[in-house]
Amino acid sequence: WTHAPPTLRDLFLQARSFGDLPFLVYRDERASFDGFARAALVLAHALVDAGVRKGDRVAIATRNLPEWPVCYHAALLAGAVATPLNAWWTGPELVYALQDSGAVALVADGERLDRLAPHLAELPELRRVLVTRPAGAVADPRVAPLADLVGPTASWSSLPERPLPDVAIDPEDDATIFYTSGTTGRPKGAVGTHRASAATVMAHGYSVARSCLRRGEPVPVPDPSAPQRASLLAIPLFHVTGCHSTLGTAMWRGQKLVMMHRWDVDAGLDLIAAEGCTGAGGVPSIAWELASRAAATGRVLPTLEGVFYGGAPAAADLVRALKASFPAAQPATGWGMTETSATFTHHIGEDYEHRPESCGPPLPVCDARVVDVDGSALAPGIVGELQVRGPNLVRGYWNKPAATAERFADGWLRTGDLARIDAEGFIVIVDRITDMLIRGGENIYCVEVENALFAHPAVIDAAVLAVPHPTLGEEPGAVVTLAEGAAADEAELRRFVGQRIAAYKVPVRIVFWDGMLPRNPAGKILRRELKGALAR
Ligand code: ATP
Ligand code: MG
Repeated sequence: WTHAPPTLRDLFLQARSFGDLPFLVYRDERASFDGFARAALVLAHALVDAGVRKGDRVAIATRNLPEWPVCYHAALLAGAVATPLNAWWTGPELVYALQDSGAVALVADGERLDRLAPHLAELPELRRVLVTRPAGAVADPRVAPLADLVGPTASWSSLPERPLPDVAIDPEDDATIFYTSGTTGRPKGAVGTHRASAATVMAHGYSVARSCLRRGEPVPVPDPSAPQRASLLAIPLFHVTGCHSTLGTAMWRGQKLVMMHRWDVDAGLDLIAAEGCTGAGGVPSIAWELASRAAATGRVLPTLEGVFYGGAPAAADLVRALKASFPAAQPATGWGMTETSATFTHHIGEDYEHRPESCGPPLPVCDARVVDVDGSALAPGIVGELQVRGPNLVRGYWNKPAATAERFADGWLRTGDLARIDAEGFIVIVDRITDMLIRGGENIYCVEVENALFAHPAVIDAAVLAVPHPTLGEEPGAVVTLAEGAAADEAELRRFVGQRIAAYKVPVRIVFWDGMLPRNPAGKILRRELKGALAR
């Protein structure tokens, strides 16, 4: 036995060891860990037989389906770089990422393949396209049905048990390319090594222990006689949080993964009840919707032990709303980036309830610092750019040496987020550098103003953005969603906010939006779509 740092193959082997326990649940389809592992190994060999070699990129363009984890791990077991693509992308956006990554193989569902069909001639490097649901009728010799190789979900347990492909996998090998959410520009392919991707999954458990140890409480020990845990997958697998945090944790701990094709609050509540989910969440807007709809309908979810979310600012009042709706569930939050392979900070339990404005301390294997514009480290409590380092950082951007050099230096990642760190190491994200607005020379952090709006009991969603002003440059404006059955007008909200933050930060205009605000699949508000609502 020789020591070796973990790879994603270790994660796969861990999951396989859970055997006949239920794993993937999608509508009335179910696959055990064993069935999943058999299908992944059959497909891994098919990829090798089709000429996929170590380091080749294998892209996945489907919604959340049981095939997704199978294809992802098959690509990794074959030694390839798994390259998930955003299922919301249009044909040209999918083409951009396929060309950028130089993918040699692609697994697509019928809807994505239809979008790509007119462009297949622009993708000469793509040698194999496996299509699923429906297999579709795209006339291209490269396209074949995925089901010909692995069959339907129900048959996975009867597939032959293939050995691991004979491919050497080193922790420093490239494992994944996840594209950033494209909030501030064109999505960038962040290249995660096996070490980084595995580290992010495995570091998670220790964080809960640290939070208990800090308060001198015993670390909870899992009860082997307790029913299997289950988490609701309400966010897409093609972003790091869905893949590393939700899927990865389920594989590491033997949890059932209840997959949703697309988010819908009523369907989500029904699934939590029907499947006995112990965990749910994803992004803050989903947590708000769960809490708000459960409160409005008087729904009780006795199996829910935790609601976790990250990826976008979570207002301090979300903790209150969750505790009111789900008294037995622990809220947990975190901050992370595609570049940090999902969660980088983790905030749970009493620590979170006492500091609801923070996104928690870094995972125990990571470091964070806040620096001034000249790069010097700032004292606790002072706002500056957040820089992070740790084993879960990606090694850079695919095909983008200039952007890589700009963001990654001396082991630290420049996050582009403004933050402060308190004396105990808890991080508060203040805003993105690019979202901060400046009113007559005064900085206004949109997140601070949004939090003041969220503190009003009627508000369940809010975005603050700049409204142009002829002499001041810009002023804050807000778009707000009210909870079901709640009432508040612009004057009332302005008065309420004015009691909490300085007058110059109070939105000069507040407009109301019907339903939750438009977001990209990573849960980030699409600010450009709201600009029109504020224009007069
Ligand atoms: P792009 O980099 O393509 O512009 P993006 O930054 O939105 O898109 P992601 O990697 O999905 O792509 O998101 C990372 C960003 O999300 C962080 O830099 C931060 O601004 C925001 N974020 C993540 N978690 C939190 C959180 N808990 N609180 C506030 N902001 C968060
Ligand atoms: Mg980013």
